[in-house]
Amino acid sequence: TQYGSSPAVYPTPNATGLDWATAFEQASAFVNELTLEEKMLLVTGTPGPCVGNIAPIPRLNFSGLCLQDGPLAIRQATYASVFPAGLSVAASWDRTLAKQRGVEMALEFKGKGAHVALGPVAGPLGRSGYGGRNWEGFSPDPYLTGLLFGDTIEGMQSTGLQACAKHFVGLPIAYEQETQRNPSVSPDGLTIEAVSSNLDDRTMHELYLWPFQNAVKSGVASVMCSYNRINGSYACQNSKTMNGLLKGELGFQGYVMSDWGGTHSGVASVNAGLDMDMPGGVAFLESGTNAHSFFGANFTAAADNGTISLDRVDDMCRRILTPYFYLGQTTYPPIDGEEYALNYWSPSDANYNFTIGPSNVDVRDDHAQLIRELGAAGLVLLKNVDSALPLKTPKNIGVFGNDAGDEVDGLYFDGDADFTNIGFQYGVLPVGGGSGTGRFSYVVSPLEAIKAKAAQQGNGALVQYVLNNTLITDTSGFSIVQPSPPDVCLVFLKTWATEGYDRPSLLVDWNGTAVVETVAASCPNTIVITNSGGLNILPFASNPNVTAIIAAHYPGQEVGNSIVDVLWGDVNPSGKLPYTIALAEADYAFAPITNSTALLETEDPNAWQSDFEERLLIDYRYFDYYNETVQYEFGFGLSYTTFSMGNSSITRVGSGSISALPSNETIVPGGNPSLWETLYSVSVSVTNTGSVAGAAVPQLYLGLPQPANEDITPVKVLRGFEKITLRPSESQTVTFDLTRRDISYWDIYVQDWVIGTSAIGVLAGFSSRDIQATSSFSPLA
Ligand code: BGC
Ligand code: BGC
Repeated sequence: TQYGSSPAVYPTPNATGLDWATAFEQASAFVNELTLEEKMLLVTGTPGPCVGNIAPIPRLNFSGLCLQDGPLAIRQATYASVFPAGLSVAASWDRTLAKQRGVEMALEFKGKGAHVALGPVAGPLGRSGYGGRNWEGFSPDPYLTGLLFGDTIEGMQSTGLQACAKHFVGLPIAYEQETQRNPSVSPDGLTIEAVSSNLDDRTMHELYLWPFQNAVKSGVASVMCSYNRINGSYACQNSKTMNGLLKGELGFQGYVMSDWGGTHSGVASVNAGLDMDMPGGVAFLESGTNAHSFFGANFTAAADNGTISLDRVDDMCRRILTPYFYLGQTTYPPIDGEEYALNYWSPSDANYNFTIGPSNVDVRDDHAQLIRELGAAGLVLLKNVDSALPLKTPKNIGVFGNDAGDEVDGLYFDGDADFTNIGFQYGVLPVGGGSGTGRFSYVVSPLEAIKAKAAQQGNGALVQYVLNNTLITDTSGFSIVQPSPPDVCLVFLKTWATEGYDRPSLLVDWNGTAVVETVAASCPNTIVITNSGGLNILPFASNPNVTAIIAAHYPGQEVGNSIVDVLWGDVNPSGKLPYTIALAEADYAFAPITNSTALLETEDPNAWQSDFEERLLIDYRYFDYYNETVQYEFGFGLSYTTFSMGNSSITRVGSGSISALPSNETIVPGGNPSLWETLYSVSVSVTNTGSVAGAAVPQLYLGLPQPANEDITPVKVLRGFEKITLRPSESQTVTFDLTRRDISYWDIYVQDWVIGTSAIGVLAGFSSRDIQATSSFSPLA
């Protein structure tokens, strides 16, 4: 373990291209033509039309690079789509839709002339449910996140767009909180350093690094290092994580860019493995050719006097240009002319001429279709008694709550709305705020979609609504709806989450819990729908008048249609929880992340420390280990049909005895190639035992043996899942492939993946606590 300090790993491994051989040659030839000044331009961000900009080099027909946020849309663009958040993708457990979302988002970035999309996100992973940015990423389970992260990247890059896996180790790895993510200034004027995420090597490999290994395997072009420190060293100058883990162990051939303002040194960062400084100035929005930069003129000087080797300089440039050539970006659409107006630079800031095209290009195409489908696929039906759902032509529909209607504060949720001035009181919340948000060209609210559906029923149904939570809870808002009670009371609630702030509570916002209780007191058929940026505690789950609950997450611009499709049964729900809902907030291992007065007034630069003492025991690993009862477990979600599962069968794939991990002489992107070899497969058959078609998500968990020298190992970990659609009575056999990595643990002494000596438990089922078939195998027997 390496608690408290991060070991030094030097030098930066030079990229060799590996499976990008041809592009690597092109990049090398190009770099040979560059002056030192031009090399500096390639590694230093500059003011320009996009969120991040690399200057053009017209002499060599290089157009420069346009980098745009974010993980669910080209953030600030006009006439662009806003897709479901990573959280909704995770709740869909659907790899096909995840990849297709990557493709369609990427076509929009490319259509606007962005070379690099600043997404997807796997850091934060979701260690704490209070994390303000958890919804940008996928799930606290690294296996689920790893596959969906990789699928998204493959989808994105198949169009010729570069993806950026963020935020790495702290960025990609351990950036688990917003509070003190950057340095601050103390009352006496001292610099108080950003929070340090302190974690041991096994936890790093098995949780936080894991999805980044998938990203590198999927050929991701770039990685963004995070704001926080990792074991005491800033993520963007941490040689262990960048040189050691990412470029060494995982064989990453692309480039590492800093998060915006995450660079804290020049030479030290370069030698630790940082390849590109974004946005370029020391201060976030410094501009002009004389802007103070850790890179820029300091970089040129350091390269000139040998403090940075020319070999390292060329490696940085080749790493940046190889994906550009590999993805065919030498011919590329121009940057949308509107971008300057929407980003934080102004044309007068620019030092270089970027290729600007027409303005307000419409890139939406037919993407609304997938957005609606994936939005619905990411809804999780948590409770459904007496077949409350799907709705059956109700004649009197009551709609309640401040998440049901149209937006009243505009269609762009910036990052400034914190929890004291929360904004967005009225209107559906389709995604969260900050750099991971999107500018909506339209939003279909639940109320709008319900009215349309009710009209289609053709029975003259009433749709009556009270959208003011205070009116519902303080006065007699409920009785405004007549005749009373309605046949069904649909209560829409939300939970705001944004970059820059951690959530203060896990309850639904705006007194939502009381809204449910008030409505349910008079309405025996109350159905609750939440739009939330992560998990919610649901104190009303056992209220007998609450007949159904749907966790709707952040579905994007078609939010109302996605929800109505499930409410009326046009879509059979198939989402599963990508996290655990506990019975009470206090049941979680983590308390709210607070600004204690002591920390706010500290004069100790190193006061902010976050020890990952729970190690591997986050989310269901924690609740399973302590055998705690939960409200709704990881992997859980209801359908309008039922499924059964037969026994599992285990097959050894390949031949010969399984020995130690072969050494990694021929490293590939993703690390030692042997880690990706399938060693076993497990098959189960699944049958639809109900009366309507639906999709099941059979899940495979492994009970890995506890290594010698370790005192904690999770009871089970997810190592397989698949989404399959079955007609009534139809059966299908699902086969889960298990790679060497899937059945190994990270041995901190051997410093490698090792297969344990005792039997591995095989647990197949429909959730982490609904295990239908149990068996085991012993690889080393
Ligand atoms: C965020 C990144 C984002 C960047 C550019 C940073 O504050 O952490 O996720 O890509 O800004 O907007
Ligand atoms: C230079 C320092 C300078 C710092 C911030 C480093 O690269 O070596 O002299 O203070 O950048 O610009």
